[in-house]
Amino acid sequence: MILMEDIIREGHPTLRTRAQEIPFPLTEEDQKLASDMLEYLINSQNPEIAQKYGLRSGIGLAANQVNSLKRMFALHLENDNGELLSFVAINPKIVSHSVEKTYIPTGEGCLSVDRQVPGYVPRYARITAKFFTIDGEEKKLRLKGLPAIAFQHELDHLNGIMFYDHINKENPFAPVPNSLPLDGE
Ligand code: ZN
Repeated sequence: MILMEDIIREGHPTLRTRAQEIPFPLTEEDQKLASDMLEYLINSQNPEIAQKYGLRSGIGLAANQVNSLKRMFALHLENDNGELLSFVAINPKIVSHSVEKTYIPTGEGCLSVDRQVPGYVPRYARITAKFFTIDGEEKKLRLKGLPAIAFQHELDHLNGIMFYDHINKENPFAPVPNSLPLDGE
């Protein structure tokens, strides 16, 4: 299983390297990586397991963060309707997005960043995403709210981008043009 010591932290070059497309069918190694990443998120959100293994809670994990340059990430979170979104996205893309932006008023966090980085991280409020499942099935999803933000955060990892790259350097809390803050945060 993936533990905190397996997650690389900011400063590691793999977090700044573009991950590579994954060919299908997946190798056994790639399948294991996918299931291990999703399992980490599920375990990390279970208070007993998280405490037992010292896991920091997360809703998303990209392969770069476990030092693998494969274009895949896992997400495990609820959408605004309380429906569970739990999947591994292989070779993910954003195919279209809203003009409107959003941001989490308290800022974003990352399992690879052991500090609070204050500031607004502008994200598209709504996205249409495409990706492949571990079985090679193509999926198209429309996302908004926290799932849309998490998808963009994880896709950035696959491109070597950290969330704080998007924070306004002069004024981290400068108003984000054409945006609404994420509700309920
Ligand atoms: Zn992250």
